[in-house]
Order: sequence, then structure tokens, then C-alpha cells
Amino acid sequence: EWYPIDELIHDVLGHMQTTLEGREIRTSLPEDLPPVQIDYLQLDQVVTNLLENAARYTAVGSPIEISVDVMDENMLVSIGDYGPGIPPGDLERIFDKFYRVSGTRRSSSSTMGTGLGLAVCRGLIEAHGGRIWAENRLEGGAIFRFTLPLTKGEELDYA
Ligand code: ATP
Ligand code: MG
Repeated sequence: EWYPIDELIHDVLGHMQTTLEGREIRTSLPEDLPPVQIDYLQLDQVVTNLLENAARYTAVGSPIEISVDVMDENMLVSIGDYGPGIPPGDLERIFDKFYRVSGTRRSSSSTMGTGLGLAVCRGLIEAHGGRIWAENRLEGGAIFRFTLPLTKGEELDYA
């Protein structure tokens, strides 16, 4: 289905209100974003997993940033935080099933992770013809980015 990604992001923020309680969420969503051809529930899961990580691995009060940019053939979605970032040698491995950075501290001790979230995100984004990766921000913290192709009417086989 064709869907405006900014609406999906607002929907996710709505159903994550409890997890994101007390957080400043800074969004940068341009006007008139072109709709993307996505499986809504799958993309909801990707954005949910990334926001859950941003909340889980950073200090309780620290802000989370969400931005969307259109770059000729692709839409780029970025979710940044002000946490400890990712050890450079782990930037790729965190997308492996069950891989967790050793000594990872969580802001909420109640939730144990299994190390599946990012592996699932990668599978879903690649099934949509996009890419997903992690970077460390110069100003501190991690930023997760994914792309979605702007397919201009071609049918994408993501199901
Ligand atoms: P699950 O998502 O299955 O509940 P998880 O959060 O441990 O468990 P992933 O979401 O795949 O698994 O993340 C893998 C690892 O990457 C995490 O255990 C953590 O070490 C690291 N990580 C993920 N997101 C961040 C982040 N925003 N900041 C710092 N480290 C992160
Ligand atoms: Mg996770």
C-alpha cells in the first residue's frame, strides 16, 4: 500500500507514549513528503524497534530525534539519540541475530533484550528494497538510518 511516512511516524509515537514518557522527541518531517510503498505493519515494527532501542540504551531524560529526507531515488529516515553510541567495531554486528554489545547498560532494567530487534529491522527494510545501518554521531550518541526506494509506480514485491 502507498503510505505517507510522516503519518506512520506519528502513529508509532502515539502507541509508544508509555515507553517514551518524559522524552523530548524532536521531529524534522518536511512538508509534502511523497508516499512510500510499504507494508504498514512491517514499517511500524521497524520504527518501533528503533525507538525502543533509543529509549532503552540512553539516559531517561535524553532527547530522541527523528528526521525524514528525500534524496532523489530514496527516502531517508534517521533516528538519533544522545546515548553512549556503538563501539565502532560493532556497528555492523549489531544487525546480526542475538548480537548485543557487551556490557551494554540499559536505562530501564525491567526489559531484557534478546538481540533480535535490529536483525528483524534489517530483514524488513531489505525486503522493501532499502538499506539500514548505524552510525555514531560526532556530537555523541548513535543514529540509525534506513532508506526506502521511491519506486514511482512500479509494484514492489515486499510481501
Ligand atoms: P531486542 O530488540 O530483541 O529486545 P536488543 O535491543 O538487545 O534486544 P537489538 O535491538 O538487535 O537487540 O540491538 C542489538 C544491540 O545493539 C543492543 O543490545 C545494544 O547493545 C546495541 N544498540 C542498539 N541500539 C542502540 C542505541 N540506540 N544505542 C546504543 N546501543 C544500541
Ligand atoms: Mg532492540
